Amino acid sequence: MTVQLVEQLKSLDQKHFLHPTSSIEEQQIYGPAAIFCEGKGIYLKDLGGKTYIDGMSSLWNVNIGHGRTEIAEVAKEQMEKLAFSSCFATFSNEPAIKLAAKIAQMAPGDLNTVFFTSGGSESNDTAIKLARHYWILKGQPNRQKIISRTLSYHGVAFGSTNATGIEGFRKFTNSPAPDFYYVNKDSAAELRKLILELGPENVAAFISEPVQGAGGVNVPKPDYFKEVREICDEYGVLFIADEVITGFGRTGKNFGIEHFGVVPDMMTFAKGVSSGYVQLGGVLISEKIHRDLCALSKGILMHGYTYSGHALACAVGLKNIEIIEREGLVQNAKEMGEEMLKGFQALQKKYDFIGKVRTFGLLGAIEFVKNRETGERFDPLLSPIAVKEMVKRGLILRTVTYDQDTLVFSPPLIITKDELNDILRIVDETLAYLQ
Ligand code: PLP
Repeated sequence: MTVQLVEQLKSLDQKHFLHPTSSIEEQQIYGPAAIFCEGKGIYLKDLGGKTYIDGMSSLWNVNIGHGRTEIAEVAKEQMEKLAFSSCFATFSNEPAIKLAAKIAQMAPGDLNTVFFTSGGSESNDTAIKLARHYWILKGQPNRQKIISRTLSYHGVAFGSTNATGIEGFRKFTNSPAPDFYYVNKDSAAELRKLILELGPENVAAFISEPVQGAGGVNVPKPDYFKEVREICDEYGVLFIADEVITGFGRTGKNFGIEHFGVVPDMMTFAKGVSSGYVQLGGVLISEKIHRDLCALSKGILMHGYTYSGHALACAVGLKNIEIIEREGLVQNAKEMGEEMLKGFQALQKKYDFIGKVRTFGLLGAIEFVKNRETGERFDPLLSPIAVKEMVKRGLILRTVTYDQDTLVFSPPLIITKDELNDILRIVDETLAYLQ
């Protein structure tokens, strides 16, 4: 495409397209940094012909990589046969039934029933509403309070925004949310304290990502979730695991919470279930909750989306999971995650402005500090500058700056050792340039 046509598209973008989670100011001055037009494997290409490594799997989601013909084929086949039919009330369709059964088989414990949505925010809203509804049915209508962790990210629908522990998302509007509470992300003892302060008879659920993604790839202490499970059981609080990033292999197991040896009461998922090829998400509920819902509900479940159980999306989800299993991508995430950690540690030795590094499967983070001893941060922060420099060098990563100065990594689960080394090489070259 000619430079002129690209410029034309950029100005149309600036005028007509309000980007999600964007710097509106930057967007208005510079326009889009890249207009992508092709993707293959871990690579993206823009209209100017430049190739980038997609070190974030786009938004932590394109786990099987870009441009998979098999997915295109199954989508075409399903679209020609039946793209969509409503699953309201008693109607159903084959891909939705098969995908629900497949996910139930993969999920830990007795998480055996799926409610489908179109993404992570809807999934967390659904889980919050189901938890509250559950307690109404159980004759404890005061149990409506929701507790989440500082720096958590659960989405931007109404409930999921209010459950999000990154304050900026809640400050976007002024709506007070009296039934949402936030607890120090590292302390199970503080969770107990907060439940007792609120009165256990008023608390519906505690929601948490097994490993926080957008908050900075924050990995909990090994026994954190065991304690959380015990506390929730002790006070009858439902435990919702938000597996939107960590589900479907990203952490080296099917679901992130499996690393911690506990089973939640509900689990939300999205992103990796379809690797971003179509919009899909959902909530898994335990057999106990399902049994109680069936036994106690009278009339209609007053919650559902037009696209709950979308036939095309579910067919794509099934094929995506088939690829993950056939290609051993869960194991690859584990192995490449170990390689990534070695690479981070080598960089840490080389650059004294690298503070903590961590990986959890194919999630990774490198923190920058001006001074390792005091933890003092750069001013201006280094990670946003580094990310811009890396884009110039053909690598897309993300920065987290809420309470840290961190580069985060979430490459596709198909990544090879050579491709991972390319990522690490570009990071190294960029840091050498910036130091
Ligand atoms: N939960 C987690 C852990 C996420 O990372 C995200 C998105 O990044 C969401 C929920 C929201 O998902 P969506 O953007 O699909 O609504």
